Formats: sequence, C-alpha cells, structure tokens
Amino acid sequence: MRQISANQLDKLNSRKPLIVVMSGPSGVGKSSIVERLLASHRDFVESVSATTRKRRTGERSGRDYFFLSHEEFRNKKKKREFIETAEIFGEFYGTPKKPVLEALERNRTVLFDIDIVGGQAIKKWCREAVLIFIMPPSLNVLRKRLVGRRTESESQVKVRLGRALKEMKVWTKYDYVVCNDDLERATALIENIITAESQRVSRSGTINFTE
Ligand code: ADP
Ligand code: 5GP
Repeated sequence: MRQISANQLDKLNSRKPLIVVMSGPSGVGKSSIVERLLASHRDFVESVSATTRKRRTGERSGRDYFFLSHEEFRNKKKKREFIETAEIFGEFYGTPKKPVLEALERNRTVLFDIDIVGGQAIKKWCREAVLIFIMPPSLNVLRKRLVGRRTESESQVKVRLGRALKEMKVWTKYDYVVCNDDLERATALIENIITAESQRVSRSGTINFTE
C-alpha cells in the first residue's frame, strides 16, 4: 500500500471555506436562522448586503445591511464593487465583493441571505457554493409570520406574499430544501448540511471563482 506523506495529509485536512446561500420567501425565517447560526459558530460570518430600502426599527447599518442612497448604490455598482445586484420590491440590493473575499481568506464559512436570482448569481460566481432553500410549512403560516413581524404595511405584506409564490417555484434549482416549521429544528438541519458539505472530498484544496 502506498504511504501518504505528512505534506499530503496536511493538504487533505485543510478544508476549503464554505459559501452557503439561503433563499426563501420574505418572512420565512432566514434572518432568524442566520442569527442562530452566527451565535453558535464563531467561524461563520454573514455577508452583509447593501440596500436602498429604508431601515427597519432595530436594524443597524453595517450589521443588518449597509443602507445606501440610490446614488451611493449606483456609484458602487459602477465601480463593480458587488458580486451581484437585484431589484426587489422596488429597491436595490447588492452583495459587496471585498468583505466576502476577505472572510474566505480567513477561512470563514460565509452565509448569504439573498433572493433566488442572487442565489443563482452566487452559484455562477462560485460553482462550489451550497444553495439551501427555506420553505414555510404553509402560506398561511408565512402570512402570519410576515404580519407578526410588524415591519411592513398591509400592502407591503401583500406584495411580499405575491412574490413568495413565484419564489417558491424555483426551489428545485437549489441543492437542499429545508422547511422552517420549528426554528431550532431547521437550524439544526442546516448545521448538518454545512457539516456534511465541509467534509466533501472535492473541498480539499483551493476555491475557484469566475472573473
Ligand atoms: P426573513 O428573514 O426570511 O424575512 P425573519 O427571520 O425576519 O424572516 O422571520 C419572520 C418572522 O417569523 C419573525 O418575527 C420571526 O421571529 C418569525 N419566525 C421565524 N422562524 C419561525 C418559526 N420557525 N416559528 C415561528 N416564528 C418564526
Ligand atoms: P428584506 O427587505 O426583507 O430584508 O429582503 C428582501 C429580499 O431581498 C429577501 O428575499 C432577501 O433575501 C433579499 N436580499 C437581501 N440582500 C440581498 C442581496 O444582496 N442580493 C439579492 N439578490 N437579494 C438580497
């Protein structure tokens, strides 16, 4: 049997950092899940998106989003500072590239809470990204969560529910689907997915990006 050298063993055991995208309809519980994952994994970080939408009560710039004016957003987009951008509910959202690359450099698992178009864009940017779709147990439960969050007006809730139906049709394009019926259970399932993915043989070595 061929011997394995210490050098080869080091290479095998040095795992690539993971990119984990979570998408799903507004109000399904993505932020709640991300918050739990960050609280119990010091090597996880969240990609903080930029947005032109108004800040909700309790949200902090730099933690939840980078809240930008339309002009600031346009300038950054022109300078190609985003991996991807999307127009959602009449506002702009974008994933800043630099912090993601820096986190991966530090071997951090990077979590993305972005929409379905953004999810596909991240997969195109990095083929090894893991895409998880979060499903609500039912539309009725989703409506209750959106209303219960008290961050959107009645008409905004309607728009978000309308978009939810469209979004939920693309779940087959994702690698995994997790139902957020119970927050603890859903978070544990996602932790299991991340653990299994990080042990893939194909993840020993370097990470590749397009561009
Ligand atoms: P998203 O980030 O997907 O828009 P949030 O994380 O803001 O969704 O969750 C929407 C609302 O639903 C919040 O009030 C949150 O506390 C609640 N929520 C999230 N997950 C669950 C769950 N499994 N059971 C009950 N309520 C939940
Ligand atoms: P919210 O306004 O509720 O925070 O987010 C609305 C939608 O925008 C959610 O589906 C969320 O996942 C998505 N989103 C947040 N940041 C980004 C981003 O940088 N890019 C894309 N494509 N979607 C985003």
